[in-house]
Amino acid sequence: MSFGISSKTRKLLKQHNIVLKKSLGQNFLTDAHVLQQIIDAADLDEQAGVIEIGPGLGALTEGLAKSAKKVVAIELDNRLIPILQDLFQDQSNVEIVHADALKLDFAQLISDKFSSCSKVHVVANLPYYVTSPILVKLLESKLSLSNIVVMIQKEVAERILASPGSKTYGSLSVFAQYFSEPSKVVQVPAHVFVPRPQVDSMVIRLSMLPQSPVPVDDEAFFFQVVRASFAKRRKTLLNSLSSSLPFPIEKTQLEELIRSIGIDPSCRGEMLSIESFAQLSNVLLQVKNGVTTKQP
Ligand code: SAM
Repeated sequence: MSFGISSKTRKLLKQHNIVLKKSLGQNFLTDAHVLQQIIDAADLDEQAGVIEIGPGLGALTEGLAKSAKKVVAIELDNRLIPILQDLFQDQSNVEIVHADALKLDFAQLISDKFSSCSKVHVVANLPYYVTSPILVKLLESKLSLSNIVVMIQKEVAERILASPGSKTYGSLSVFAQYFSEPSKVVQVPAHVFVPRPQVDSMVIRLSMLPQSPVPVDDEAFFFQVVRASFAKRRKTLLNSLSSSLPFPIEKTQLEELIRSIGIDPSCRGEMLSIESFAQLSNVLLQVKNGVTTKQP
C-alpha cells in the first residue's frame, strides 16, 4: 500500500517536472498506514472542518476529505497549487488556498470558511523549518479549535510532551501544556518520506483546553517569567531569573519571594510545574507593578 502512494507521488513530481525544495520542508509522506493514523487521531466526524497546512501533493488531504465535512488546505508553493486544484476538482468539500501559514489570519479563515462546521481541527504534516512558529501561532491565537494533530520533528515533539524534571522540559513544553493537553500518537521513521529527511518524526495530538489549567494574572508576563527561568539552563532558578527577568529586582528580594511560595531558589527551572510557574509569575507581577509605579 505504501508503495502505491510512493509511486503516485514520484509520478506526479515527474509529470509536472517538480524538484522538491528543502527550503520549504518538502518531505512527502508515502505510508498509507501512517496517513490513516494521523486522520484517526484527529477524531473527525461528518460535521468537522479541517485546516490542513502544507498539503503538498494531497496525500493527507484525500483521506481528510473522506472523514470531514470540509477541508481547507493552505499551501505556500505556487507550483503545487494547479496540481492540487486539478486533483481535487471533483471534490466540492476541498478548497485549496495559496498562502503562507505563518502570515495567515486563522481566526478570519475560520469565520470565513467554517461557519457550517460544528468544530474545527488542524491536521498537518508540518514543514520542519516552521514547526515551532506555526504551533506557537495556532496556540496563542486562542482559536476555537478542537484539536491539532501534527507530524513534527521527533525532538520538538519530545520537548512538547516533556514533564517537569526531564532534560527536554522547557519553555515550549510549558507553552504547549498551558493551552492544550499534548499526547503522542506515533513515532515515524525517516524512510517513509520522499525525500528521506535527516531526522525521525512523531505525530502528536494537542487537545485544546477550554480554559487555562492554572490561574495566571497576566499571560504575557507569565511566559516572560517561564522563558527567563529557562534562559540559563545550567544555572539555578534564582540566577537564571536574576539575569533574565524583564524588570529590575534585587537578588535578595527575588530569593525571598521564590522561597515564600515554597520553591527552592537553588533548583533548576526545569523542576517547576506549570502550577509553580503560575504562582511565581503572579507574585513577581505584584513586585513588577510596584516597581513600575515607583518609577517616573
Ligand atoms: N502534506 C504533504 C504530505 O504529508 O506528504 C506534504 C507535507 S511537507 C512536510 C510540507 C508542505 O508544506 C510542503 O508542501 C510545503 O510546500 C508546504 N509549506 C512549507 N512552508 C509553508 C508555509 N509557510 N505555509 C504553507 N505551506 C507551507
